[in-house]
Amino acid sequence: MRSAYLTEVRHFEVRQEGIPVLKDNEVLVKIAYCGICTLEQRLYTGERKIYYPIIPGHEASGIVVTVGSEVITGVQVHDHVALDLVNRCHACPACLSGNSNLCENRFKEGQRVLGAFSDYMVVKPDQLQVVPSDLPLESVAFAEPLACCIRSLRTVNASLGDTILISGVGTMGILHIKVALAMGLRVIACDIDLKRLEDAKRLGAIALDASSAETCIATIKKITRGRGVDSCIITTSSMSAVEVAVAVLASNGVMNIYTSYGNKPPLPLDMNTIHRHEFVVTGSEGRSEYDFYTATRVLANRTIVVDDLISQIYPLEEVSTAVEEALSGSSYRVLLKMEE
Ligand SMILES: [Zn+2]
Ligand SMILES: [Zn+2]
Repeated sequence: MRSAYLTEVRHFEVRQEGIPVLKDNEVLVKIAYCGICTLEQRLYTGERKIYYPIIPGHEASGIVVTVGSEVITGVQVHDHVALDLVNRCHACPACLSGNSNLCENRFKEGQRVLGAFSDYMVVKPDQLQVVPSDLPLESVAFAEPLACCIRSLRTVNASLGDTILISGVGTMGILHIKVALAMGLRVIACDIDLKRLEDAKRLGAIALDASSAETCIATIKKITRGRGVDSCIITTSSMSAVEVAVAVLASNGVMNIYTSYGNKPPLPLDMNTIHRHEFVVTGSEGRSEYDFYTATRVLANRTIVVDDLISQIYPLEEVSTAVEEALSGSSYRVLLKMEE
């Protein structure tokens, strides 16, 4: 089998190696597709480091090849699965309190991190969810990013009838829009890319050009009759997105900083305004097993359809070209396809 190792900044080596041997409590999965997320892009450019050499990849779908003799979950050979490749220790305070996305041991040394840019992977039974075999495996590879958006929407406590602002219409912005609309929210989406705004509008969002923050703020105020939005989610690291969000948040509003930043910019918001309006400012990072389970169900039920987010599919050998394409910023998700 082949695995794509990132051996240093901007350098992949596709190596031939033996299929991993599974333990009795593990499952061997033949990987079908793996999405290239921001994390993989940042590992490639060196903006983020975990260790070298590393096999990246955490948005994967596949088919079960072998099930260990001690696995009791009922998963079977030939099952189609979505993989949840974070490490959860199930024993730390974060895991025990239902916030396993923040597991204190998820990056602890000595364990495999990521790993799906490969033909095969051995996983624990709790790192997979079985999906219907007629759901395209390309779509199943979106279970992970979708789960992160589901968590993000849960974090702002949005409910039917609310208006939410989603800043940034990249892949994660579009997934947020899809989840928010499925939850019955009115969605205002902002970006400076007119083509992406068209896509947001087609989905049913009110799409606003954010190139002038002032005009954007005035339009949102008008749409909400001066009240502002009940919640907002920041999916772009552009600072003007946060300035708009701060200016249009209604009293009792919740702001979720979904995106990560290369630096540590301060929030452009004074403490007295937070006090007077009872604003809640939060972040959301990753997904718990509950979010992942929810994501696989909404994909399985076709409540949320994601095929329109697949921009390109490359074979594993062309991993460098694929990551460069993802980095170009002109596409939604770029996927890697392993061999049949
Ligand atoms: Zn991801
Ligand atoms: Zn833990």
